Amino acid sequence: MAELDLKLLTHGPRRGVMLVLSSPSGAGKTSVARRLLERERELELSVSVTTRPPRPGERDGVDYHFVDAERFARMVAAGELLEHAEVYGHRYGTPRAPVERALGAGRDVLFDIDWQGAQQLREKAAGDMVGVFILPPSLDELERRLRRRASDPEEVVRFRLSRLASDVSHWPEYDYVLINRDLEATVEAVRVILGAERLRRQRQPHLGAFVSQLRHGGG
Ligand code: 5GP
Repeated sequence: MAELDLKLLTHGPRRGVMLVLSSPSGAGKTSVARRLLERERELELSVSVTTRPPRPGERDGVDYHFVDAERFARMVAAGELLEHAEVYGHRYGTPRAPVERALGAGRDVLFDIDWQGAQQLREKAAGDMVGVFILPPSLDELERRLRRRASDPEEVVRFRLSRLASDVSHWPEYDYVLINRDLEATVEAVRVILGAERLRRQRQPHLGAFVSQLRHGGG
């Protein structure tokens, strides 16, 4: 699918979309996010801070900002995080400044965060946030995907599997729910959602001026 040419369809700068992707661990969300970012030039990833140690291959400042517990607590106290939560025994949070910068510039921001973070963003930015929840096609497939990520020790895999039921119970809190049977199909579905959300009337603050020009002549 080609990217929509928004300049042909809209008038003036728009408000950016806060696109939240959540899923139980292993449902394929990170792969979806990666492909989306490759294909959507106006979309940028919100890089979270975490106290979790890096997995092999993860890069500081790219996958996460890896910090110790003290630094994380300082960021919370200083109000530098837009939301934060404890997930599977580690702390995770979204730095505020880059998000505000991107939205202010009319760019969209992708958040790979859990349901606790999604709830907090919804409270703070209901009109800007679009929530997409990704489900695995089956429990067996989820387990296979978690085990394929060989870097996680067995107890981590078991713990994450044990959390499936409670993670999945949050699906009704999202605007869209997709079953990830096929990575390509899922990525394209999220692009369709993003395209439609970009065109929402509420995200086009200059539309009123355009319409009034139409009605009263000129332009
Ligand atoms: P992982 O350790 O596998 O990278 O991530 C574990 C979980 O934490 C995933 O569900 C991921 O979406 C979530 N997560 C990552 N960053 C954040 C964040 O900044 N805030 C919240 N609330 N969850 C996050």
